[in-house]
Amino acid sequence: MIDLNISGIIPKNMENRGKLVLNDNLKNIEDIFNHRVIPKQAMSDEEIELFLKLLSLMDTDKDPKSIRIGEREARTSSNIHNRLVSGFCHGVGRSGNLIDPQPKAPGASVMYSLTNSILTSFLKKLGLNVSAIATPIATGMSISLCLSALRKKYGCNTVIYPYAAHKSPIKAVSFSGLKMRLVETVLSEDGESVFVPVEDIENAIKKEINKNDKYGDSNIYTTKYNINNKKEIPCVLSTLTFFPPRKSDDIVEIAKICEEYNIPHIINGAYAIQNQYYIDRLKKAFKYRVDAVISSSDKNLLTPIGGGIIYSKDKEFINEISKTYPGRACATPIVNTLVSLLSIGLNNYKELMKQQKESRKLLHDLLVELANNTNNKVLNIDSPLSICITTNSDPVEIAGKLYNLRITGPRGVRSSDKFGNCYLGNFPYDYVVMNAAIGIKNKDIINAVDKLKYSMAKNKNIMSGEKNGNNYCNSIR
Ligand SMILES: *Cc1c(COP(=O)(O)O)cnc(C)c1O
Repeated sequence: MIDLNISGIIPKNMENRGKLVLNDNLKNIEDIFNHRVIPKQAMSDEEIELFLKLLSLMDTDKDPKSIRIGEREARTSSNIHNRLVSGFCHGVGRSGNLIDPQPKAPGASVMYSLTNSILTSFLKKLGLNVSAIATPIATGMSISLCLSALRKKYGCNTVIYPYAAHKSPIKAVSFSGLKMRLVETVLSEDGESVFVPVEDIENAIKKEINKNDKYGDSNIYTTKYNINNKKEIPCVLSTLTFFPPRKSDDIVEIAKICEEYNIPHIINGAYAIQNQYYIDRLKKAFKYRVDAVISSSDKNLLTPIGGGIIYSKDKEFINEISKTYPGRACATPIVNTLVSLLSIGLNNYKELMKQQKESRKLLHDLLVELANNTNNKVLNIDSPLSICITTNSDPVEIAGKLYNLRITGPRGVRSSDKFGNCYLGNFPYDYVVMNAAIGIKNKDIINAVDKLKYSMAKNKNIMSGEKNGNNYCNSIR
């Protein structure tokens, strides 16, 4: 790759041997430049570091002869800065478009573009035929970018949101300046889960369309929000990945309805990429109306927190989304996504997906056993990551105990907690949710369930006096 002139220094046969070794050592890096797809095998840390170093040495702040008189010249006070951003002190993007090449940073621009093509190839290999970008902001903010693009492109004024109680998407809606129409969840027939009926979403769409028609004629409402003079329409933000007892939205049926009514539809798939069940649902939904899907880089790709992934069948819409980002961005969240893709590699990622599935089964089996022994039950919800076990003492107290026992992750939710349950009525059970997400270790599952057993038993003794026949789950604690 680098044409080093060593001729005449050592015997020719040694020179050839040396170049052979060097080329083999650089081969993986060269392959990335040539093929621009996710490598099958993981790359070593040394290879990735060299790769990033080569790229960052193209940026103008590394030019020993550059004369820098701009107000923004990537001048940094310490070398620590350089290390923290992997050499990409100029960041990524050009004011107004995240994925535009930045003249002061040819290396970072190549790095970002390669990240996006590697990410796209990765999703294709998992079965999603889409275009993707890595974003320098986490899931909630990435949802905002998408909503902002929908508002600009179609004049969307209201987000129809099947209620999923996570603050990030809810704040994303208000941050992007859109109104929200909440569609409530209902309790399933067996009383063990909550979901949003597709008919209710369709009715919400109809109501919003009628409302806009009424206002649209007067033309006041329309011009107030819509700079492009388009008739305002609602859009739908559905949720594919959520904590039980809230079921996944039926994204395939929602996509069909959105196609029928010609309404934009984006999907919050925060941790969707790690499990085939979610990917299959996305594949089916993509046959109908899905404008974009948003996933988290840390939940799916084992990066530090701070990045997002947006993907769509429509490459042009991905460009439009990237244009809604105001200004330049720190390169680090993008580099993190790139480092994960290269350091995991396709084969290992598939192996991690397989292990996640097995871990989920182990967690399920252990929790069923615990439920049987404690007069509880594992709720009937088809989540490929999480499991809900009912408790007969205060679940919040149990989760608190687990935290003190150095276990993070379980959520304890009381039947009366309308936000935690995603249900505006009273949920029939107190419960604890546990997750087997990608990267989990089986020994952690075994230990966590063991400590849960201990916490439940202790609590049960303390709380047994409060138990109130079969109605214990509704008692206020
Ligand atoms: C993790 C998660 C988010 C988002 O979070 P960020 O902190 O913005 O990355 C949003 N929605 C759901 C359902 C999530 O699980």
